[in-house]
Amino acid sequence: MYFAIPDARQTLDRLMAVESTFDGTTQPIRQWVSEHRAKIKENRNLIENESPANDIPVLNMFLRDLLVRAIKGEMGSRVYEELLSTIKSKEDLHETNYREALKNANYRWGVDNGSKVISDVVHHVQSVLHWNWRVYIERAENEKETNFQSDPMLSIKNISFKLRDLALSNFSPHYAAFDLHVTRVLTRLGWLNYGFPFLGNTDLEMGNNPGNDKNYLFLHRLFDSLSDMTEGNYTPVDIDRILWHLGKSVCGARSRCGACPIGGGCPTGKHRTTDD
Ligand code: SF4
Repeated sequence: MYFAIPDARQTLDRLMAVESTFDGTTQPIRQWVSEHRAKIKENRNLIENESPANDIPVLNMFLRDLLVRAIKGEMGSRVYEELLSTIKSKEDLHETNYREALKNANYRWGVDNGSKVISDVVHHVQSVLHWNWRVYIERAENEKETNFQSDPMLSIKNISFKLRDLALSNFSPHYAAFDLHVTRVLTRLGWLNYGFPFLGNTDLEMGNNPGNDKNYLFLHRLFDSLSDMTEGNYTPVDIDRILWHLGKSVCGARSRCGACPIGGGCPTGKHRTTDD
């Protein structure tokens, strides 16, 4: 049996026109990608300016994402709003405030668990990073190919690759936090097969389960490679966003291959003559 794997650059180009709805707004994926790039640029400026005034806004963005526990976006934004109103300066960094913010946000994973994560992260940022976010992001980018496995932040209890990468994705286009909706589309497109060359590294295992560390490292390496295949026209974060929006609009649990611009060029779509 022979099947062709769709070309990364051509496929992504075609997907940019697909309309996707999020938070009540419907627009082409091209627009979602462009807005996300602008957000990373804006956040990156906070880091590159190296002003002490930016330390707390950057910390709050990290905390927002490091506290995510399979919760709905709405709950995540409530935690963020509470962090912003409670932690405004370095003088506000104490446990009473962490607990109050989480309690007000009805943090679903529990105030004790959440405040422990915040305390550990704050301690790490103060005593290991010395508030030097720029050096931290530079190091992450230098070690992007191996998913920055040497990051001391990963030794904090309950900080997984996925949460750390979600936080990094605010500042770097090389880190995406993969979810099952994205990896389902990736699998249907046949793009996992582009990952065979990486399997000499036994830290990685081909698979599409982001909850498995070896699969996760494989997916990170694969997205880096897909980005290279587009000659950098699409970053790993762009590709993650494009597949996420495709999953939301056309290629969800029930795929609508008839409405997908890839259609017969997709190894799955080729065999799905009706919308399944
Ligand atoms: S053709 Fe079907 S399976 Fe393939 S990406 Fe499009 S919707 Fe998904």
